[in-house]
Amino acid sequence: MSLLVFGLALLWSMGEVPAALAEAHTVSTARADNLKELMKNGSQVKPSSRHPAGGHWQELQRRYRGVFVLYASRGSRQVALTFDDVPDPRFTPQILDVLKRKNVKATFFVVGKRASKHPDLVTRMQREGHAIGNHSYNHPDFSKLTLSEMQGQIRRSQNIIEGIVGYEPRLIRPPYGEINAEQLQWAKENGYTVVNWDVDSSDWRQLPAERIFRNVTRSVKPGSIVLMHAGGGEGQSLAGTVAALPRIIDWLRANGYQAVTLPELLKVPEKREANVSERTHVPKVPQTAEEMPGTSDEIPGVLLPQR
Ligand SMILES: [Zn+2]
Repeated sequence: MSLLVFGLALLWSMGEVPAALAEAHTVSTARADNLKELMKNGSQVKPSSRHPAGGHWQELQRRYRGVFVLYASRGSRQVALTFDDVPDPRFTPQILDVLKRKNVKATFFVVGKRASKHPDLVTRMQREGHAIGNHSYNHPDFSKLTLSEMQGQIRRSQNIIEGIVGYEPRLIRPPYGEINAEQLQWAKENGYTVVNWDVDSSDWRQLPAERIFRNVTRSVKPGSIVLMHAGGGEGQSLAGTVAALPRIIDWLRANGYQAVTLPELLKVPEKREANVSERTHVPKVPQTAEEMPGTSDEIPGVLLPQR
C-alpha cells in the first residue's frame, strides 16, 4: 500500500495524475476490489482524505431530500451539464459559443467575486437561456467555515448576481462540493437547493479532450448531473473542456439523452423564493480582507483538486 501511495504521490508531483483519481467524487457504487483495478480506476484512491466515500454524499442526499442533490430521477433520459468557477474571460465565452452552436442550455455556477469583474459574461449566460447558480463569493471550502461565514459567502454572491441578472438564484453549488449538515439545514430553511454531481469530468486536471469525453460518457446515466468547468485558476487551461464539449453533446444526443438546465431537470424554479423572516434578520456579512478569507484575485487551490 505504501508503494502505491508513493507511486501516486510521484505521479501527482509530476503532474501525471491518472484521470480516474477524480472518480473518487462520483457516487458510482462500482468499487475496485484489487490493486490492479485500483490503479486502473482509482475509485478508492484519493489525493486528499478530505472526502469520505461517495456514500457520505448519498447519505446527505437521503437526509436532505430535494435540498441536497447529486442526480435527478433516473426515470427519464434528461441530464444537466454544469460549469463551475465562472465567469472567466479566457474560457467562459468559448464554452458559451459551443453551447450556442449546439443549441444546448446548461447551468453555470458563478463565483461572486469573478462576476463583479465580468458582469457582461453573466448577462450573456442569462441572455442565451442558461441557468445560473451561486458558487460562493471567493471559493472557500464551506466545511471549514462557520455557518455565519458560509451565509456571508452566499449572500454576498447573491447580491452581486441579483445586481446583474435581476433575481437571486435558488441553486447553490458549494466549492469542492463540500458542505455540512448545519449549512444544509440553513439552505433548506431559506429556499435554496444545493446541487453537487454524480459525473465528474475531471476537466480541472487539464486533461486532453479525449479523456474528458471518456470520463463523462462512461459514467453518465439518466438524470445525471455532470461537473465541468468554464473558469480556471492562473495558468490553468480548460482547452480540453472546450474541445471535448461538442463531442460530449453529440454523444449524448446519439445515445438518446437530452441536456437541459438544472431547474428543468430538478423541476425547481430558477429563482429563490425569498423568506420574509430572513430578510428582516440579516446576519453580519464579513466585509474586510481579514474577515473574508482568500480575497486574492485567484481562486485558492485552483490547481489542486478543484471543483
Ligand atoms: Zn469551483
